Order: sequence, then structure tokens, then C-alpha cells
Amino acid sequence: MCIFCKIIKHEIPSNIILENDDFLAFHDINPKAPIHILVIPKLHVDSFNEATPKIMQNMTTFMQNVAKEVHIDKSGYRVITNVGDDGGQEVKHLHFHLLGGAKLAWSHLSDSDPKGKF
Ligand code: AMP
Repeated sequence: MCIFCKIIKHEIPSNIILENDDFLAFHDINPKAPIHILVIPKLHVDSFNEATPKIMQNMTTFMQNVAKEVHIDKSGYRVITNVGDDGGQEVKHLHFHLLGGAKLAWSHLSDSDPKGKF
């Protein structure tokens, strides 16, 4: 069983922000911003590649509610999902990072020159 499935079953402790029958939001253990929340479906899905429109539709509303819950809906935030090796995905259970609470940096994400590609 993957680590996030264990968190869903409360076999591993987590700092939960919001939960319903289908989704769970909890604080990232290694925050990269003042607010760094992970949002996951309770149904195990490996990554965004396997996400269905139904999951995404309901997850969107849930993530918006999480942003309201921690009062970053007005100030702004960033939503990230890493997919596979190149995406840097460490945990193979679909999750969205919600990052906020400060002005976030935005810089080159790889050493290759993006201008050379197009
Ligand atoms: P990713 O690299 O997109 O797969 O992100 C995985 C995230 O899960 C990382 O930001 C980790 O810090 C976070 N993480 C791993 N284990 C835990 C845990 N037990 N509780 C909370 N966050 C975790």
C-alpha cells in the first residue's frame, strides 16, 4: 500500500485540513512555502495521467474549498501536480500541491534552454 493510502487509513499520522468521503487535504511534511498543502483523492490513482474527468471535477471544488479554509483564496496560490520521472513525482498517488502564504518565486525549472526548442 502506498504512503498516501496509509495516511487516508490513518495508519500514518498527518495534519489534516479538510476531508470528505472522496478527498483529503493535509500539510506537506516538508513545506516549500508558508502554506504547502497536499490534496489527494481517497481512490488510489497513480498520477494525473490516470485521473478521470469525474475525479478532477470534484477535486477542483474540493481544492477551492481548501484554499478558502486556509484563507489564501483571495491572496492567491499555486497548484502543482508532478507526473512521472521528468515531473519529479516521488509519491505515486495523485496529489496536488497547493502553495501560498507569500509571493512565490518562478524561475527556470531545467538547465536546457527553453528558447531553443520553439
Ligand atoms: P511529489 O514529489 O510531487 O511526489 O511530492 C510528494 C510530497 O509528499 C513531497 O512534497 C513530500 O514532502 C510529501 N510527503 C511525503 N511523505 C509525507 C507525509 N508522511 N506527510 C506529509 N507529506 C509527505
